Amino acid sequence: MLKENLKVVESNIGAACKKANRKREDVTLISVSKTKPVEVLMEAYDLGVRVFGENKVQELVDKYESMPKDISWHMIGHLQTNKVKYIADKVALIHSVDSLKLANTINKEAKKHNRVIPILIEVNVAKEESKFGVYPEELEEILREIAKLQNISIKGLMTIAPNVANPEENRAVFSTLRKLLVDMNDKNIDNIHMRLLSMGMTGDYQVAIEEGATMIRVGTGIFGERNYFEKETIGDN
Ligand SMILES: *Cc1c(COP(=O)(O)O)cnc(C)c1O
Repeated sequence: MLKENLKVVESNIGAACKKANRKREDVTLISVSKTKPVEVLMEAYDLGVRVFGENKVQELVDKYESMPKDISWHMIGHLQTNKVKYIADKVALIHSVDSLKLANTINKEAKKHNRVIPILIEVNVAKEESKFGVYPEELEEILREIAKLQNISIKGLMTIAPNVANPEENRAVFSTLRKLLVDMNDKNIDNIHMRLLSMGMTGDYQVAIEEGATMIRVGTGIFGERNYFEKETIGDN
């Protein structure tokens, strides 16, 4: 099942890359393993998966401790400042930075571990009240502030697109995020050279790739349905 799912996702990624005239290696597949037990993650690991996405601190830490050390762990969910300390030495990338306060805390914890933590800024492109993320018009200001922090490296932007029936409905959201990245890079802010666009989930990752996603976050499409009512708290911690 897992093997088949991965094959299907991989072939969809290939098709989307081909359609958009992009290279497969320019898109990183993040296997979103939240709520799934370590045994299932290990099954994925044995099939070659090395990049996992989690949305809860405790779960990420537990899985990190019990799994091989050549895995990249991505924090994709809303992150509370008081929990940053638990993952500061473990995460490869934090996708969900949505405030200067959180960035300051990440910077402080990164310094303690003598490392620079790569982050993405989460943008609430569709301005959904239920979602986290900065609004597009707030982006430049927060970028200018976070860029001053020495133990953080801003690698790009992330968005959680609305839950829609037809993925085409999210195309404009994805193209807006890509345009924002280009616009912000054009401002030549010191320390800001963003390359990463984390956008697209099971329902819409092909459209996201066509619109320039460099990271897609796929959970259900790989691991199957999660067996609790997740939709309401998506990205929440
Ligand atoms: C759960 C989650 C995903 C994966 O969602 P699927 O629809 O299962 O692919 C992607 N991004 C974030 C932030 C999530 O919380």
